[in-house]
Amino acid sequence: MRTKILLLFLLGWVGMAFGQGCFLGNNPTSVENLTKFSGNQQFDNINNREYELLSSVFGIRPDFYYLHDFGMPNAYATPRIHNPNLTDGTIMLGFSLVQNECSNSPSGTCSAVPIILAHEFAHILDFKFGTGLRGKYQELFADYIAGSYLYHRANRFGNLNIQEVTSSFFSKGNYDFNNPNFHGTPQERYNCLSAGYVLAQQYSQQGIHLTREILMNSAIQYVGQF
Ligand SMILES: [Zn+2]
Repeated sequence: MRTKILLLFLLGWVGMAFGQGCFLGNNPTSVENLTKFSGNQQFDNINNREYELLSSVFGIRPDFYYLHDFGMPNAYATPRIHNPNLTDGTIMLGFSLVQNECSNSPSGTCSAVPIILAHEFAHILDFKFGTGLRGKYQELFADYIAGSYLYHRANRFGNLNIQEVTSSFFSKGNYDFNNPNFHGTPQERYNCLSAGYVLAQQYSQQGIHLTREILMNSAIQYVGQF
């Protein structure tokens, strides 16, 4: 099963990019554009379940909101704190992004959303613990971390529709090197996701706990080659 998932992953995941990039830094997004509820209880429940696993795996509890992104599909992570009880920054998931991903999900499971959330959680790790990375290296770091999460998730929740996910992210790939939101080439992103997945798999198969520190250091080291 795991081999099959990895094979699908490696065959299908030829690159991903969040089209408009993730916000990094001081976020001008107005708080009135944020909401805790999508309007779909089932979708909220699924995302809440995802949040809890992400929090458990990475040991952080950022605040989470849906964002009215007004037709500019995106997801963001920011160190800004909205809730004094949730001091690990804030993640925002745009409604337009969700709509796009769900409408491009033949299985009806919106499979790309979990990996988007994992990518944003990885940015929170960067904000909280500091990687020293900048620009595309921050993005590739987030992809590596998200790749490791894919492995954990497959074990916990069963098969994610990897083909849908890969299709989704590949469709957003670009080579816009001069764009300040440039996330790395699809190949670089693919390599980082795969490497993160394989690292988590190797540790699991050897019965060794992959600590957050080892994961982050591995990611930092890996992205340094690009
Ligand atoms: Zn990002």
